[in-house]
Amino acid sequence: MRTTSKREAYAELVGRRRECHACAPDLVNPATVRDGVLDSAHVGPYSRWQGNLEASLAVVAQDFADVDSFVELGGWPGERLGTNLMLVELLAKAGVATRPPKTGEPADDVFFTNAVLCLKRGTMSSRVPSRCFRECGTRFLRPTLELVAPKVVVTLGVGALDAVLSAFGLTRSGAGLAELVDRDQSFDLGTHMKLFPRFHPSRTVLNVSRSEAQQREDWRRLGTWLGTG
Ligand code: SF4
Repeated sequence: MRTTSKREAYAELVGRRRECHACAPDLVNPATVRDGVLDSAHVGPYSRWQGNLEASLAVVAQDFADVDSFVELGGWPGERLGTNLMLVELLAKAGVATRPPKTGEPADDVFFTNAVLCLKRGTMSSRVPSRCFRECGTRFLRPTLELVAPKVVVTLGVGALDAVLSAFGLTRSGAGLAELVDRDQSFDLGTHMKLFPRFHPSRTVLNVSRSEAQQREDWRRLGTWLGTG
């Protein structure tokens, strides 16, 4: 009997994501923006930069963008977005080399995805309804992580952390993000995958909640665990 390859299973998942409107009207599927010309053969736009299905490290961020920003970016992760540039530096701290995003040119050193795959109406700071985290977590986030099956999953910020935990039937039992990161708390996502929470590397978070120096140190410790640092 023929077995389905990882690539075929991923393509099937992508096909289902393109057809999914479970979060309408709150969120907009990239497949419906500008007749789908900015959509891709990935589960979401963040994976266009880092979409290595054999990666040992996956990074999960909360959501990609609002519709207007997605159009402005041409459907790719922003080349000059501070968060993306900082993430490259943090990965380097963990001993994982990659380059900043470049439109039209995947790097594919690791795997990136978002907890919620569709686009917000309004602005970048618009809220994502909690039901959308539940919908996307069950339908796509967990299946995607189980398919890629990296050794380590890193979440950026509390929204992404709670989305992954919920999709796998886990909770952080009231512990705050700083507490979890300080003690290098990990969560088992099945037998071979471990989730490590980290802070979001946006300028606001770096200025207010977790400094650049602290975040570099957080990722350096992660590298020790990964065996790359
Ligand atoms: S965010 Fe996820 S679950 Fe919601 S409509 Fe988009 S693909 Fe479907």
